[in-house]
Amino acid sequence: MSQAPLLAAKRLVVKIGSALLVDLEGQVRMHWLATLAADVAALRQHGIEVILVSSGSIAVGQTLLGLPKRRLYLEEKQAAAAAGQIRLANVYATAMAAHGIAVAQILLTLEDTEARRRHLNARATINQLLKLGALPVVNENDTIATTEIRIGDNDRLAARVGVMINADTLVLLSDIDGLYTADPRLDPAAKHIPEVVRLTPEIVAMGGKALPGLSSGGMETKLLAGRMAAEGGCRMAIANGRQMHALAHLAEGGKATWFAAATEPMTARKRWIKAALDPRGRLHLDRGAVAALSRGKSLLPAGVTATEGTFRRGDLLLLLGPDGAEVGHGLSAYGNDEAERILGRQSKEIEEILGYRGREELIHRDDLVLSGN
Ligand code: GLU
Repeated sequence: MSQAPLLAAKRLVVKIGSALLVDLEGQVRMHWLATLAADVAALRQHGIEVILVSSGSIAVGQTLLGLPKRRLYLEEKQAAAAAGQIRLANVYATAMAAHGIAVAQILLTLEDTEARRRHLNARATINQLLKLGALPVVNENDTIATTEIRIGDNDRLAARVGVMINADTLVLLSDIDGLYTADPRLDPAAKHIPEVVRLTPEIVAMGGKALPGLSSGGMETKLLAGRMAAEGGCRMAIANGRQMHALAHLAEGGKATWFAAATEPMTARKRWIKAALDPRGRLHLDRGAVAALSRGKSLLPAGVTATEGTFRRGDLLLLLGPDGAEVGHGLSAYGNDEAERILGRQSKEIEEILGYRGREELIHRDDLVLSGN
């Protein structure tokens, strides 16, 4: 990947971390925000559609409600978010009004980005706002999201939003200027990595352990966001946003780590399979089948040694290797009764066994997502 500049973006999501927007006293950094607003206005002048995902409601609300300066309990966080979000909406509206830009607030929950119909609704609304020239400002709906159903960090929320609305570029502005080969605070030899072409599991593991970011999400959530974005065809930058005019600086080639988008982005269908949480059954595969899948092949009945569970055609199944390790997920072309009858057999025998001509594959490659991919 050549380091494509920010200005190549057509549709850009910018995530703004709490530590940038809110100072240690819990006050909004108005001067900083004014410079961000000017940069956003300039990018829009350039013909780039911009969507902001902003944190800060809890940090601001904590001060507004006079809550103690310690880690908050969930109920306190939810109350703080309710109070802080009004203030956030207000400061964004004021900052953008200076450039004649209307701001529109969108509060999302995990379900809004996962459930197909709500996902489409949220997407349509954001598209409509962009068409009307407004600046959508998104946050998680922390007031109603409980621990179990929260996305929890705005890095991944921003990636979900980016993929949902087909953004081509995502920028995570935080207090760290990218990925390093080791923790730069501990290791003076740590090298900054300007670009990552493929987010391998090794890089994710390295970032997660060796490089705790300073912001709430940390480096691990940023890399997970990067992977989600890449799979959705969206490139991503991690950049330090502390300075004034952080976006203008990045547009001029400022220091950052750029993550390339996958050259063959996962289809919406595959992303859905990957995100689905509730497999109806399991298939045990032999070694040959596991090897074939890793070469991009479909799963044939011949490579399946056993099935578990009651499932129907179209249901999500978990695939396990001979050692019991998870291999991936996929949508079954057969119900469990039929699958049991054809497992271990050649595809050309299917018609004879079942009495009709079904699909050759038990799971077609288009309906299959391998783990660690
Ligand atoms: N949604 C949270 C807030 O607005 C922030 C989550 C995060 O910083 O990642 O306070």
